[in-house]
Amino acid sequence: MTDNASHLGATLQDLLDERLDAARQTEVLTHLAGCPQCRSELEALRWVRDVALKQLPVEDVPPALAARVVAALDVTDKQTVRRGWRRRTMAAAVLAAAAVVLLLLVSPSSNGDTLPNAVARDFVAYRDGTLPLTLHTSDVAAVERFFVAGGAPFAMRVFDLGMMQYQLVGGRLHRLRGRPSALFVYSGPGDRNLVCQMYEGQLADLPRSDDVREHNGITFRVYRAGTVTLVFWQEGPVVCVLASDADAEAVIQLAYAKAVKV
Ligand SMILES: [Zn+2]
Repeated sequence: MTDNASHLGATLQDLLDERLDAARQTEVLTHLAGCPQCRSELEALRWVRDVALKQLPVEDVPPALAARVVAALDVTDKQTVRRGWRRRTMAAAVLAAAAVVLLLLVSPSSNGDTLPNAVARDFVAYRDGTLPLTLHTSDVAAVERFFVAGGAPFAMRVFDLGMMQYQLVGGRLHRLRGRPSALFVYSGPGDRNLVCQMYEGQLADLPRSDDVREHNGITFRVYRAGTVTLVFWQEGPVVCVLASDADAEAVIQLAYAKAVKV
């Protein structure tokens, strides 16, 4: 475990941009292996990079150039992995730690996995303490500002669930199967966790659900993964999802209360 007293800060951008020599890169990866805070920051930087790439005025860029930019970013990821492994002279433990970090950071593959499964896994990871938040606050406006500052590419609103006894805990810029997601978390009665995510997408892209409901003219798709209930609905270009291991009907009622027809 590394000394986390001095975090990586601007060095994270250097890592993303491949400006570090092999020795420094190994130090940085070792620090990342032991530091959730810096891992979270690196994820946020990647998120911003991906959003920036997405917002390129593609119609003004020759398709071949756009393809090269995407390819270059892919190569950056792959080279980072290879160099991590090339340091044969370093202790095997350091290599293993670096590889684990990189596997976590390199874009996820789909493998036929579904969005509901990914959302359920995120819920469990948060509940079990392995998915850290970047911002901790119960201030709804502060979390909204945090997402805007992070470059959220879609209109964001963070729910105020105080009336329902759910208090905001904080948020993180997240990735949901490779797409940017705004993730924020509440703590409810009996210390139940409620994890909300919003991402650009279409409800129609979700797998079939046996439990589809209509409320106030809005369609809700309900999924269950073990003890976790997931409720998805569409708001304009954004898909919202609530995930919780609270009582299923209670989770659905929270979604009914907060969904807005767009
Ligand atoms: Zn750190």
